Amino acid sequence: MECAAILDCGIGFALNEFHLQELTFKGEMIMKTGKEYIESLRKRNIKVYVKGQLLKSEEVIDHPFIRGHVNSAAMTFELAHDPTTEDLVTATSHLTGKKINRFTHIHQSKEDLIKKVKMLRMISQKTGTCYQRCVGFDAINALYSTTFEMDLKLGTNYHERMKSYIQYMQDNDIMVAGAMTDPKGDRSLRPGQQADPDMFVHVVEKNDQGIVVRGAKAHMTGMVNSHEMLIMPTMGMIAEDKDYAVSCAIPVDAPGVLHIFGRQTNDDRKCEGEIDQGNAQFGIVGGECLTVLENVFVPWEKVFMCGETDFAGMLVERFASYHRQNYGGCKGGVSDIVIGAAAVMADYSGYAKAAHIKDKINEMIHLAETLYACSIACSAEGKQTASGSYFVDPLLANVGKHNVTRLIYDIDRIAQDIGGGLTATLPSESDLKNPEIGMYVEKYFKGVASVPTEDRMRMARLLENMTGGTALIESMHGAGSPQAQKVMYSKLSNLDHKKRCAMNLAGIKPKGDENTK
Ligand code: SF4
Ligand code: FE
Repeated sequence: MECAAILDCGIGFALNEFHLQELTFKGEMIMKTGKEYIESLRKRNIKVYVKGQLLKSEEVIDHPFIRGHVNSAAMTFELAHDPTTEDLVTATSHLTGKKINRFTHIHQSKEDLIKKVKMLRMISQKTGTCYQRCVGFDAINALYSTTFEMDLKLGTNYHERMKSYIQYMQDNDIMVAGAMTDPKGDRSLRPGQQADPDMFVHVVEKNDQGIVVRGAKAHMTGMVNSHEMLIMPTMGMIAEDKDYAVSCAIPVDAPGVLHIFGRQTNDDRKCEGEIDQGNAQFGIVGGECLTVLENVFVPWEKVFMCGETDFAGMLVERFASYHRQNYGGCKGGVSDIVIGAAAVMADYSGYAKAAHIKDKINEMIHLAETLYACSIACSAEGKQTASGSYFVDPLLANVGKHNVTRLIYDIDRIAQDIGGGLTATLPSESDLKNPEIGMYVEKYFKGVASVPTEDRMRMARLLENMTGGTALIESMHGAGSPQAQKVMYSKLSNLDHKKRCAMNLAGIKPKGDENTK
């Protein structure tokens, strides 16, 4: 099997060398360590295909394409046990009063919303990449308030089920993948109009025990290293879409579920040396996959929406706003590393003191802090929902994510400018280590005399890895494409009010609503 061959490729580190503390349970603590999380994944019976090969379930998390993402997600568990970070990474459950990992928490205040953003920036500064666990975190928060309001209006009983599920998630400290994006087929057609009804996840059977769902979810961040997934509709629904308004929790290894792992820029480098990967320990972005659901049974206790089309839009908008809140935190932290890498390249190359380099670094800092400011602002302007939980200001959250689709490109462009052409043209680690030609690579890629060529190559590779290909595209489309945010502006920004302000100031009396629309 290809996986076994890849595992023998002599990569420079392995999961069991990853620096995770031994288990340290104290009193009531129910939180997994990073190592416990990794071990718990081995117990799954998951079906994952990589490059056309079905992996052995117990080997999935050791596959070179996957293990960096596992290491990154493990940080969300491990940092809850670090005294220097536990204030951000833990919280007190409003359901049980127990100390829990914040990634399983329902926001109880604006401070919780702000702490989430600070936590994401801090973790990104350690991993330089996505740690995937925010998607399920945002899904439970969106479902918590939506199910409450749904029950209030329709007399259903979804909120109690949701609370039980959240408590199960907290007590077992599991990682849940948020599963919203459907393949969508022909974008001009609604779910029920598609030539193939499976283009959107839908209910194909209901009985006393539960429901059977079918379809697929695309671009699934962290799915192959999660324990469960939370299915949500991908957009607002109308009455005809009843079968498609479905939300439920499914184990990632449930019968009928399979995952097809996505390719990334330069992923075959993960089967070669460590240096050429740039960030060998944690990889890039979230290890996305296509998750196929072939008639999967879900018991009623894990169903949180089934046919309530009027509430699909609310769920989508709340989930999207929570996830867009994150991006100034997570991409702010990733940008901190990009800025640091560019500055180190300037040091290593001898041009750090040039005025234009200082100016460019300041420009990157300005852009990164702008991203962060939006995430903090939408959290500080958060409001309590009818359920008692807190929700971000959706307009500011959408503006923040939209900035990411633009400013990350600017930050990365400037970083590549400072890094120099060698970030694109460097020979490989094998060339550096080759006894016949290594001395030429060593000699001609040297910058300032005091810095080893290998260090300069390592930093150039980190910069290449973090500013190109898959990583850059994720900033554009992760948490929704730019147009998805612009659609929200017209809904949330009250253009009529802006028109009335202008007319008032100009001394124009509005003649009626038609003049201000
Ligand atoms: Fe979390 Fe950022 Fe990854 Fe989304 S892209 S899951 S917000 S780390
Ligand atoms: Fe993302």
